[in-house]
Amino acid sequence: MTTPPRKDLSVLTALAFKDNYLWLIHDGVNAAVVDPGEAAPIRAALAAHKLRLTAILLTHHHADHIGGVPALLDEWSVPVFGPRSDDIDAVTEPLGQGDRITVPGIDLALEVLDVPGHTLGHIAYVRRDAGAEWLFCGDTLFGAGCGRLFEGTPAQMADSLQQLAQLPDETLVYCAHEYTLSNLRFAQAVEPDNAVLAARAKSDGARRAADQPTIPSTIGLEKATNPFLRYGEPRIVQSLVEAGRLQPGATRVATFAALREWKNTF
Ligand SMILES: [Zn+2]
Repeated sequence: MTTPPRKDLSVLTALAFKDNYLWLIHDGVNAAVVDPGEAAPIRAALAAHKLRLTAILLTHHHADHIGGVPALLDEWSVPVFGPRSDDIDAVTEPLGQGDRITVPGIDLALEVLDVPGHTLGHIAYVRRDAGAEWLFCGDTLFGAGCGRLFEGTPAQMADSLQQLAQLPDETLVYCAHEYTLSNLRFAQAVEPDNAVLAARAKSDGARRAADQPTIPSTIGLEKATNPFLRYGEPRIVQSLVEAGRLQPGATRVATFAALREWKNTF
């Protein structure tokens, strides 16, 4: 008996609203969607690529991530994977830290991480295949930024981001919004002497000018440029102190909280 050749998986980008990315993971025949805030862009992408929807994956309960679920379920009878504790009625496969799933229809194994902060029940999905590590992190880690703390504490969000930072550097980061350029302006204001950051601002600026997404980025690039993974850096602490937003000698969590607070009004 021979094993059928493994079909390579790809990730398609569907746009929704002003700046949401909906991710469609497919093998050329079947597809799973991550965070379908709207059904129409997913329907259009499935039709354009002649794909069959076999699963829905959700990261958290916000409407711009789940709004399209009922309409998709009207058309496709598929399981809905999602956080165990984020109050989403449509979830049929509740998940939490350490759970491992095989996405129906496509050859995709994912591990689940709890990443509270933006919402309390927020989860992320990680594909750990060597050479094809992917992270679907919703509104937790963004290109050069992180999600707002609507429900969780700064300590929870700092821990969640730290957990993501421990993934391999080459892991592709599929976050749910195109906020990168705005985040990079803040990052450069708090860490003006970071050369990797300056280079990223230039290349991502060129991408957006050409109407290209800046996402996915990588964990390695985020670790080198994202202030919410770098708040222990002396230059960032200095910026916070100079801005009168932090006392010298403050704890790491206080530093993270002050940085997040500053970005809210930047
Ligand atoms: Zn959200």
